Amino acid sequence: MLSPVMEDYLKAVYQLGDDEVRTSELAEHLDVSQPTVTNMLEKLDERGLVEREKYKGVTLTEEGRTVAVEVVRHHRLIEAYLAEALDYDWSEVHDEADRLEHHISEEFEERVAAALDDPERDPHGAPIPGADLEPPEEDGETLDTLEEGDAVVVERVEDDDAEVLRYLDEHGVVPGAKVEVAEVAPFGMITVRTDDEEVALPDEVARSVVVEAAQKPV
Ligand SMILES: [Zn+2]
Repeated sequence: MLSPVMEDYLKAVYQLGDDEVRTSELAEHLDVSQPTVTNMLEKLDERGLVEREKYKGVTLTEEGRTVAVEVVRHHRLIEAYLAEALDYDWSEVHDEADRLEHHISEEFEERVAAALDDPERDPHGAPIPGADLEPPEEDGETLDTLEEGDAVVVERVEDDDAEVLRYLDEHGVVPGAKVEVAEVAPFGMITVRTDDEEVALPDEVARSVVVEAAQKPV
């Protein structure tokens, strides 16, 4: 059995990238000290879940990746269930899911998936890995990289800042929404037009919004 903390480390390595992840990055992401990270990575290495390379960083083994993807599947299924069945707001589901993701059984996971008819995306638009635990495609352009006049559709929004989520929701910047870039200010601010309003977003917030190119009308 892996502890919730171990699972969180594997998830963090998975989410921080395909390449080697540095101890310092992990320490910052998990809000712990570097020696703590080094210690835990040693344990995960002994169990064959990560590979460490001196001065480079850490990568997941195949087994480690499978564990990470399963935790992500739990997380996103739980978020979808909380939002759809229990009427949670999309800004509230992440913290609950962060706790519950480590504790549900395979049976529970299957039942939640079945109850929601195998959902493909969580309330923030992130892809829910399938039961085969293949890592889903999660690349994509973010709003802060666009230019004036670009028209895009919001695909997903990073899920971990409740205040940002509430703000984006209030202004219609949600998965599926069409947005057009009205103005890019030279000081790290981008103004986008949604259906019925304009909203200015600092780059830091715009970076959490993943978009896809809008289909040109035929
Ligand atoms: Zn989440």
